[in-house]
Amino acid sequence: MSKRDYYDVLGVAKSSSTEEIKKAYRKLAIKYHPDKNPDDKSAEDKFKEAAEAYEVLSNPEKKQRYDHYGHAGVGGASGGGYGGGGMNMEDIFSQFGDIFGGGGGSPFESFFGGGGQQSRGGRRVAKGTNLRIKVKLTLEEIANGTEKKIKVNKQVTCKTCDGTGAKDRSSVSTCKTCGGSGAVRRVTNTILGQMQTTSTCPTCNGSGSQITSKCTSCHGEGIVRGEETITINIPAGVSDGMQLSMSGKGNAAPNGGIPGDLIILIEEIPHETLKREGNNVVYDLHVSIVDAALGYSAEVPTIDGKAKIKIEPGTQSGKLLRLKGKGIPEVNSYHRGDEIIHVNIWTPKALSAEERTILEKLRDSPNFKPQPGKNDKSFFEKMKEYFE
Ligand SMILES: [Zn+2]
Ligand SMILES: [Zn+2]
Repeated sequence: MSKRDYYDVLGVAKSSSTEEIKKAYRKLAIKYHPDKNPDDKSAEDKFKEAAEAYEVLSNPEKKQRYDHYGHAGVGGASGGGYGGGGMNMEDIFSQFGDIFGGGGGSPFESFFGGGGQQSRGGRRVAKGTNLRIKVKLTLEEIANGTEKKIKVNKQVTCKTCDGTGAKDRSSVSTCKTCGGSGAVRRVTNTILGQMQTTSTCPTCNGSGSQITSKCTSCHGEGIVRGEETITINIPAGVSDGMQLSMSGKGNAAPNGGIPGDLIILIEEIPHETLKREGNNVVYDLHVSIVDAALGYSAEVPTIDGKAKIKIEPGTQSGKLLRLKGKGIPEVNSYHRGDEIIHVNIWTPKALSAEERTILEKLRDSPNFKPQPGKNDKSFFEKMKEYFE
């Protein structure tokens, strides 16, 4: 069997840079990786062929010899690890540190995604699922930040077996299939020599131990349905639709794995009188014609109690007043919004005979004729001024 040209194998030109060669190899290594192509002999061969080509073309000295003499220049006993029976999987995986970054072998796991599993101390362990809850907050709670104790229904670690899934201490033994390492090696004989692949032990699922007698409370799962009261610290300034995450507070994982996260969705309960506009709050104040004309001290609600605000004599409807710093704080900042008071002049809807007589007397009084100024700002201009 004659070997294919190394440049053809990687699909690169003779003039390609080291970076281009590396890139081409990385692509092929991912495509034909044995973890992705279990029991596929042709993928295995392509994987090894690519590794061999890369081994030569990534080394300037070997590349030069190959360019001059072809396979004869780099093959045979003098060729190093790849000669004779070809490269074994151990050699190929040891290249990966340089190809994928990190320390050989393991970068691949993150490359292909763990599929609900995470690596802890080299072993693959299960991860619990994330738990989502909704927390309803008043505007006052949002403005000041709050602590909520919430009882959640979730998967918790089984107390009977402490999450091990075993009936007792004597019913846990080292996994016979993998000898406790959590991984198994498979050796296959190929034309190019012995090939070794490593995968998670199917017997113990990577835990390294085996249970001979299961815990009766959790049926060997290590988790049970339960309740937990979780204290959630909500910072001031959150808003409707925002999500907070508490790592490790989600569902417990089977067999002592890593618990999932708790995702908290914030829901804002609308305030009775105050409307939120970003970090500002808006209050609609209704003022009688008389108070607007004579002026008075109005009492307005704020997120922390009541406040007095002066309405000047001759105040027009639509005027915007500001209570500085009476709004909502920004999350993780000292900046706080304002309360904006929107003045609405209240026109009476019904009149007694006496009221009617008084008002009719005022009808033709010159000061009661509307006299809008040419340069008075429109409602939108005023809003823009306040909110920008
Ligand atoms: Zn149990
Ligand atoms: Zn095992």
